[in-house]
Amino acid sequence: MSIFRGALLDTPCGESGGASFAVPTTLRVESDGALLVRNGVIAARGPAAALLAAHPGEEVIDCRPGLLLPGFIDTHVHYPQVRVIGGLGRPLLEWLDQCALPEEARLADPTYALGVATDFLAGLARAGTTSALVFGSHFAGAMTEFFSAAAGSGLRITAGLVVSDRALRPDLLTTPDRALAEGAELARASHGVGRLRYAVTPRFAFSCSGELLASCAELASSVPGAFVTSHVNENEAEIAGVAAAFPSCADYVGVYADHGLLGARTVLAHDVHPLPRELAAQADAGSAVAHCPTSNAALGSGLFPFLAHEAAGVRIALGSDVGGGTGFSLAKEGLQAYFAQRLTPAERRRELTAADLLRLATAAGADALGLAARTGDFEVGREFDAVWWRPQEGSTFEVGLRHAESAEDALAKLFALGTPADIAAVWVAGDRLAL
Ligand SMILES: [Zn+2]
Repeated sequence: MSIFRGALLDTPCGESGGASFAVPTTLRVESDGALLVRNGVIAARGPAAALLAAHPGEEVIDCRPGLLLPGFIDTHVHYPQVRVIGGLGRPLLEWLDQCALPEEARLADPTYALGVATDFLAGLARAGTTSALVFGSHFAGAMTEFFSAAAGSGLRITAGLVVSDRALRPDLLTTPDRALAEGAELARASHGVGRLRYAVTPRFAFSCSGELLASCAELASSVPGAFVTSHVNENEAEIAGVAAAFPSCADYVGVYADHGLLGARTVLAHDVHPLPRELAAQADAGSAVAHCPTSNAALGSGLFPFLAHEAAGVRIALGSDVGGGTGFSLAKEGLQAYFAQRLTPAERRRELTAADLLRLATAAGADALGLAARTGDFEVGREFDAVWWRPQEGSTFEVGLRHAESAEDALAKLFALGTPADIAAVWVAGDRLAL
């Protein structure tokens, strides 16, 4: 057993509801707190003085000064795009053609893919991300390399082969039969192995035929507990393209629903331009949206209608959307989510608190990924997934923490000023990751 001592902040949401923002956020604080961890699981929590007195002789890991937070949970991030972060100045479809897809095509070479996977997984861990729903590669060989590297990383990774059969460069296209066969084999080898799970991943309806989407639904139903992830309603030109390709479907969300892909284990990224009936369909299905605010800003996609999702009862979590997004840090994504709401007209604006931002980056992600029984907060019974934020003495972030007026104020400073360079240690289920 070990005792982790530090300033503990989390947003407890029970085992469901973390991503349902109609329920107000509670910030729980132990300014000198401790967690007793046994076999990677939190066995007790409380003020440090009381816990240390109750368990004399246990190893104490002192995570002071700084803040000890639950590990971040990224619900939308692309493994093949780590090396193309920063391609500015283009809207979505041009960015895909000119920045993302040429790099994604290079992953046809498994050796190249392994190098990218290594860079990608290091980027997640160094940013304090302990769980992620990862958009994979179009190449099965690249996914084999990725799952192997992910298993060795210690991170909780849900990922799958990305499939498309139209509208992209030819070397990235597959067929419904091949997608099903390769996906089934990758799922057999990875799903439920250690901390890995499989996600059926049609790239977006824009690049998929109805037959391919149907094969995705068949794969999802054949892998118990598998996730489904894709993109939706990101950009006006993309939405128009989907409407033209699927004239018999009511709308973009309807394309996924009509092909059996909208359910409680579905996570759709972006949803910047949803219709009211699409929000209602997502709420009814219990699916979740991955809000990716730096990507939405960088690609000029628009301002995410947080309040409309919340009012409709759609679950919301956070995604970095690397490489459309500008890095792995969910602290930065949280700040950008806040900025986006500040720039939204008052009648549609959702004022986000620092506690809301922490919840988006932790408990909401755990809920969206079906991991809320294991991770997302520091409740007794959860696995110890944690990040020790310890800024360098004299840095502006450290000055801010030293002069913070409250725990909420300290948390706001973390979102305003914290970067991956301020992270001293990261644990998943009590295992310290090599950073
Ligand atoms: Zn994306």
